Parts: sequence; C-alpha cells; structure tokens
Amino acid sequence: MNAGSAKTPKLGVQDATKIYHTASGDLLALDRCSLDVHANEIVSIVGPSGCGKTTLLWSMSGLHRLTSGTIRLDGKEITGPHSDIGIVFQEANLLPWRNLDANIHFPFEIKGEKPDRAWIAHLVNRVGLDGFGGKFPRELSGGMQQRAAIVRALALKPSVLLMDEPFGALDSFTREEMNRLVEEIWLDTKTTIVFITHSIEEAIFLSDRVVVLSSRPGRVAKEYRVPFPRPRSLEIMATKEVFDLTNTIKMDIVGERVRPKARERGTAEIVRIRP
Ligand code: ADP
Ligand code: MG
Repeated sequence: MNAGSAKTPKLGVQDATKIYHTASGDLLALDRCSLDVHANEIVSIVGPSGCGKTTLLWSMSGLHRLTSGTIRLDGKEITGPHSDIGIVFQEANLLPWRNLDANIHFPFEIKGEKPDRAWIAHLVNRVGLDGFGGKFPRELSGGMQQRAAIVRALALKPSVLLMDEPFGALDSFTREEMNRLVEEIWLDTKTTIVFITHSIEEAIFLSDRVVVLSSRPGRVAKEYRVPFPRPRSLEIMATKEVFDLTNTIKMDIVGERVRPKARERGTAEIVRIRP
C-alpha cells in the first residue's frame, strides 16, 4: 500500500499504446503515452473529446490491456483489476435492485471479504449520506448516487482512486459541491487521485498537476503544475493567476482541435479509419 521508494511513482505509465480492432478498421486510441503519478498527488487529465482519456484510465485500472507499453503500480506491472485501485465512472453504476448499503457492500461480496463497517460508516458520514443506507438508487439524486459510488470505491481502501468525468452529468452547483467533497476526502486520506474531466476549472480546483493530452491518438502534449494552496477557496479560484492558467490550458485544447494535423503524429499516419 505504500508509495515505494521516492523514485518509484505510485502509478507509472510508460509508452501506453492502445489499438482497438473494430469492424471498420484499426483505431489507434493511445500512442506511446507516458506519465507518472506520484503518491498523494491529484493529477487531472484533460484533452479533446475522443482523445483517449477513458482508454488511458481503463488501462490504469487494469480493466483492459494495452496493445503495448506498461502501467505500473508501485513499480509492479498491472495486468488486471487490482484491489488497490478504486474507480468512479461518469454514471454511478449502482445496482438498481440493491439499496445503498447493499451496493456499497457488493465489492466485498464479490471478493468474499468482510466489509470494514466502521470505515464505511466514516465514509458515508463524510459524504453526507447518513441515514440513506436503506434507500434505493432511484430514490436518490444524481449527486447522491455519485457520493455512494465514491464510498463504494473508497470502501476497499485503495491507495489510488481513478475518476472518469465523475461529475460531468451533474448540474454546476452540485458539481462544485462534489469538487469540495473530493478535496475534503483527499485532505483526509491523501489517496492518490487521477481525475479525468472536461472542465478546466474543475481540473485546476482539484489538482496538483494538469496533464493535457493531444487529440487522438492521445499522448501527453503539455503538463502544468497547479501551485495554489489548499483548501482552494473561492477567493483563490477568483484570482488572475487561476484565470490565466485556465485560459492557457483551454487554448492548448482548442489549438489541438483546430490544428491536429500540424503537430507531429507519430504512428498515427499508419492507422486508417474508414468512415
Ligand atoms: P475520451 O475518453 O478522451 O473521450 P476514449 O478513450 O473514450 O476517449 O476513446 C478514444 C477513441 O477510441 C475514440 O475514437 C473512441 O471512439 C475509441 N474507442 C473507445 N473505446 C472503444 C472500443 N471499445 N472499441 C473501439 N473503439 C473505441
Ligand atoms: Mg471518456
């Protein structure tokens, strides 16, 4: 569970390449994408739609294999789903026929392990779901369902939490609340977090670093350190420094979108996609 030596990243992505073999041809989704995530960091990954963010996150979680390249957790290659890695998707993916408690206990049932009830109670309280354990997903708002999904992911005490646009479907007010919640949980647990988002504001609010992927095939195009102190108050988020960084990253992504051919595309040329 520990970070390993100072030199070993918590999560090391080396030359991650993923080709999807589809009925209409091969599709290069990631092309030699490399990045390190260090223990206790929050790193956001942003980039144009379809650039391979979800592909990268699934590879990090061990949910699917890379075509080539490696993902290492504490220096050890990941070859399949790993209990030290939790994941939260855009949809909460709660089982509709189970109440919240039963949903949160589900991963333990799969693993044949006893849930740590005290830890789960702490998490449920942390995310403000006290008293909702008997409710079914349909009885809860999208934000509450996503809170439950976060509890379910953290219940197994992962040292890494992967989040794929977890708040993309929520209204902006709820989203801000959820961002504060993630910040609080991080301040509490220091879980290493990789966070995918479309929102540059969200990325800057949450992250120590923002990694910008190029348009497909995804590769690390730029990386920004976010130097603002935590917790990040509304005052901090309203400063010119935050505004400037937000615009710089937005320009990177828009630039990628309008000039994808202008950059060096590596092996992208050899992959033909028929419409
Ligand atoms: P992002 O999350 O950045 O929007 P994805 O990783 O979902 O991007 O997708 C990257 C590219 O790979 C897209 O062109 C998408 O259509 C394609 N893709 C994703 N998953 C699959 C799959 N299972 N089979 C075939 N193509 C896929
Ligand atoms: Mg995606």
